[in-house]
Amino acid sequence: MADDGGVKKTEELQEELDVLKKENEELKLLYETIVKHATSLENDLEKKLREITVMSVTDSLTNIFNRRKFTDSLLSEVSKALKNGTALSLVIFDIDNFKQINDKYGHDYGDFVLVTSVSIIKKVLLNNSVFARWGGDEFTILMPGIDAQQAVKIAQAAREELHNHYLNIHREVSCSFGVTELLKEDSVKSFIVRADNALYEAKNSGRNSVKNL
Ligand code: GH3
Ligand code: MG
Repeated sequence: MADDGGVKKTEELQEELDVLKKENEELKLLYETIVKHATSLENDLEKKLREITVMSVTDSLTNIFNRRKFTDSLLSEVSKALKNGTALSLVIFDIDNFKQINDKYGHDYGDFVLVTSVSIIKKVLLNNSVFARWGGDEFTILMPGIDAQQAVKIAQAAREELHNHYLNIHREVSCSFGVTELLKEDSVKSFIVRADNALYEAKNSGRNSVKNL
């Protein structure tokens, strides 16, 4: 009797052990599934965060920087250039008679001109240039380490590339460019105002031109 009881107890204990082992395996699986799920959620979240960060500095039509990002870069590049005594140039350009292009060919074609012009101009810019859509059909380019003479050359190349591209497809599209180099006594405001005045001169001189002030 005592032996039987002993065998039964051992069998019962073995059964309980098997159940516990099975439960342990199940818990392990559950744990692995939860960890996998949490990792995938974390990856999704990081991806979304990266997308939102890019979106917050990007113009949604042309995919270049937006005005907010440009303003940030302008503030930091101006203070860096003033501190280190290095050259910094600013170019503002605007599509000529863009309203007429919209009126003649439609708003979608106008959008297409904005996107195409950006991709043409991107190709003549140096890698460290900060290229942004300032608003509407107006764009800004910040050129660290570049003096006015070099900036005018780049702007002329951009103007020619753009005009020739549209001549080839029989469309009369051109841009006017205002160029200026940062002066020791400049503030961010006076720097922008001078580039804007140069653009105004380019418009007044018949458009499709580059002016430096
Ligand atoms: P100017 O040579 O003096 O620059 O003349 P303009 O006709 O280009 O100047 P204006 O500022 O009168 O016109 C700009 C036009 O750009 C007006 C506006 O409807 C148009 N515009 C602004 N944003 C967009 C856009 O995202 N897409 C399109 N298709 N048009 C836009
Ligand atoms: Mg315009």
